[in-house]
Amino acid sequence: MTKRGVLIVVSGPSGVGKDSVLRMYMPGKTCVKLSISSTTRIPRQGEVDGEHYNFVSREVFEGMIARHEMLEYAEYAGNYYGTPKKWVEDTLASGKHVILEVELIGALKIRALTPEAVFVFLMPPSLKALEDRLIGRGTETIASIDKRMKAARNEILHAGAYDYIVVNHTLQESCEMLDVIINAAALRTSHQKDIIGEVINHA
Ligand code: 5GP
Repeated sequence: MTKRGVLIVVSGPSGVGKDSVLRMYMPGKTCVKLSISSTTRIPRQGEVDGEHYNFVSREVFEGMIARHEMLEYAEYAGNYYGTPKKWVEDTLASGKHVILEVELIGALKIRALTPEAVFVFLMPPSLKALEDRLIGRGTETIASIDKRMKAARNEILHAGAYDYIVVNHTLQESCEMLDVIINAAALRTSHQKDIIGEVINHA
């Protein structure tokens, strides 16, 4: 029987570098898949539909909610974001680990639904570093930066609800920490219950 993959939820304030860490982490990781969320947000320059997000209208998104196609969804800075339920379920069942990049509300919903998932909070070294990064990225308006900094404070205050905190000093270091966490999660006894019977019964 194929061993189910581990669900890994990565959160952290907008601008902390979740995307950059995950995009550095993923290449070559054949056992790990990154979920593509749907969002009603307008694509930023360079973002590709179907690669960074599935960019959809509010009408389409609300249709997906009504058909229960979302594992979770939340509104963040005025836009909907949601995780595709069937894809995540099928991928875990195929034995691959799945990474979800979601904000706090979505992470808390997933924690209630799937307590065996592993929750990682990517922390900025400081709020100043986060604000500098959001400004430097040049993709947000002043109002959007303001909204995101307010949300960031709240998210950081809830970091204690996660299993792991990784301070994003460098992308390389954060990727290494993420790899350690995923490998350790896959080795948890709760994830390997079948091995005991298998070894005993195939003496
Ligand atoms: P951004 O607009 O910067 O791409 O994303 C804003 C926030 O939405 C980020 O914190 C990101 O992690 C979160 N996010 C992205 N996809 C999802 C999703 O499917 N569900 C939830 N709840 N949040 C998401």
